[in-house]
Amino acid sequence: MTAMQKFITQTTRLPTPPAIALKILQAVRSDEINFEELADIVMADPVLTAQVLKIANSSIYSLPKQVTSLTLATALLGTQALKNIALSFVIVDGFKDIPQGGFDLELFWKRSISTAVSAKILAAETGLADDDIFITALLQDIGILVLFLADAPAFTEMLDKKRINGKRFCNAEKDQFGFDHTELGSHLLKSWNLPETIYEPIRHHHANGTTTVEHGPSLLLNISDKISSIYHGTQANKKISEVHNVLEKHFGMEHEQVDKLIDTIGEKAREVMDLFAVDPGDMKPFSQLIQEANDELRRLNFSYEQVVLELKQAKQNAEQLALSLKESNDRLRTLAFRDDLTGLYNHRYFQEIFETEIHRATRHSHPVSLLLLDIDFFKQVNDTYGHPAGDNVLRQVSQTMVKLVRNCDIVARYGGEEFAIVLPETGRSSAKVLAQRIRRGIEQLQIAINGQEIGVTVSVGVSSSDIEGMKSERPVLIDRADQALYAAKKNGRNKVEI
Ligand code: GH3
Ligand code: MG
Ligand code: MG
Repeated sequence: MTAMQKFITQTTRLPTPPAIALKILQAVRSDEINFEELADIVMADPVLTAQVLKIANSSIYSLPKQVTSLTLATALLGTQALKNIALSFVIVDGFKDIPQGGFDLELFWKRSISTAVSAKILAAETGLADDDIFITALLQDIGILVLFLADAPAFTEMLDKKRINGKRFCNAEKDQFGFDHTELGSHLLKSWNLPETIYEPIRHHHANGTTTVEHGPSLLLNISDKISSIYHGTQANKKISEVHNVLEKHFGMEHEQVDKLIDTIGEKAREVMDLFAVDPGDMKPFSQLIQEANDELRRLNFSYEQVVLELKQAKQNAEQLALSLKESNDRLRTLAFRDDLTGLYNHRYFQEIFETEIHRATRHSHPVSLLLLDIDFFKQVNDTYGHPAGDNVLRQVSQTMVKLVRNCDIVARYGGEEFAIVLPETGRSSAKVLAQRIRRGIEQLQIAINGQEIGVTVSVGVSSSDIEGMKSERPVLIDRADQALYAAKKNGRNKVEI
């Protein structure tokens, strides 16, 4: 059992045709349509008779003369057409008084009538004419109405989901019910004994691959549905260009011709709605829709420019941000290898740069020297003047060393009150000279502490790669400098030893 068969047998009973429609259908069931019988049925209902005559006289049939009787209408239109006209009225009428709530029935019939008028006019225009096209188009979406009537909550749920996932109507229906309105509508009309020429095109009006001229009625239904939705749906802009595409492609119509056709369909649809006692409501003329579409396009263009401008601004902001990020990163990197208190390079950086300098020296056969300096009796400074004063001394000593070395030399805080100075391309004698210069410079330094001038001295240990038997390796050079520093301390401090 298909999903639809299950739905029909378990969930709901399909609506029966209105009584008068049933009579008409019975009258025409036999292959030979009995006009007398049909006329009797129609004439028994004066309103229906008036409606049939009015539509026969309307511009969609453009008959050569005024039709004043059903006999004349039949003579001019044929019994088949008359039957379809009568059926159209009674079916729409039969579905006008239904419980609503959540379903815009007025819009449904407005749309369906516009689709029917559109199909009728297109059929005449394209030569794909068919006696049944008006009623077929009119009823092509009847399955939607039946779905709603059968299970309003599920139908509403389907619409809600569709609004969120943006799926096409048929797909949303298939998700919710397992089948769509083309299948259900077609099935219903078949069960009402409407002819195959009506229910078959309805089954295919949304099917893929049926949108070619060979599928005559289905193609007309498909295009008519689009034209109708220009007037009754959203995104008129998009639909207009779709209709242009398909009519120009399949029927070689000119652009203006298509515009004119859409316009005519709108006008005639209003006329026919009146005959069906359906209020056209806010249905706008095509010229107004075009105007609004153009306005919308201008607005879109305008907001496009706005977006471009905002993007430009955003790009500038991003570039600014990238710049300040880079600055922050630079600052961070600086912080990572600088000592907070003195601003000198820190221990880690000293180790890295010293390694690099040793390699470079080895590669270029240059000497490299290292000074390790330690402030003499620094503990006493702290003890006498306090820790902050000690900090101040560390800073002053640091600045003095930086001032006294060459640009290429690297001054680092080794730890506590100990410092290391890497001297690239410097041999033992130059290193010793430089060490003495620094020692003297610090010795001469006067540091103001609490309004008092104090001085400090440093002991310096030197190691150089050009000393006999020296290995140009970092731990060795550091160890030797440390030993020399120890010797300087031992020899009375404020001394340089190598
Ligand atoms: P020596 O001549 O033998 O080097 O004597 P010293 O007092 O300088 O040596 P010692 O190693 O005994 O003392 C070092 C002092 O340095 C002790 C420690 O509190 C102080 N010190 C280390 N780092 C800092 C610092 O960042 N700020 C201050 N104010 N003092 C520090
Ligand atoms: Mg020390
Ligand atoms: Mg010390």
